[in-house]
Amino acid sequence: MVEMAQAHSPNEVGTSLVGCYSNNGFEASVLDLAPLSPDSKGSRTSFYRGVAGLKKFFTKLRQSFSGKRHYVGEWHSHPDAAPFPSQTDDGHQLAIAKDPNTACPECILIIIGHTLSNVDEIGVFVYSRKRGRISLAPVHQIKDTLDSPTSV
Ligand SMILES: [Zn+2]
Repeated sequence: MVEMAQAHSPNEVGTSLVGCYSNNGFEASVLDLAPLSPDSKGSRTSFYRGVAGLKKFFTKLRQSFSGKRHYVGEWHSHPDAAPFPSQTDDGHQLAIAKDPNTACPECILIIIGHTLSNVDEIGVFVYSRKRGRISLAPVHQIKDTLDSPTSV
């Protein structure tokens, strides 16, 4: 994510997140990124995450991992802003959580902000169909997590 964010700076960029859930449903692991859709469009202050090729990608993913890897959310960069969701981000992310076709009622949003290389500038949120936006962890805890071999 950081490499892609830096490569596209000063424009925003992002993709969907690939992951899995623990058996009890209380933990999500982000394991991979979906490819950047060619119809995505990023500017300095906005990002439209395209859809081209994603349906095929996720169908193949589900088949390859017997349904144990799937869509868990989105990430995008904020090259000149704090890693905090805009009103547009909130709207899009809640719409995804509420969309029955996406089947992701607890949808993750990761934002890579400001300097694009400093882990203090990573925001992690969950958008819950029932509870709205939840800030998953203070940024200093993310830094500690990234220092260990397991990821967020
Ligand atoms: Zn944003």
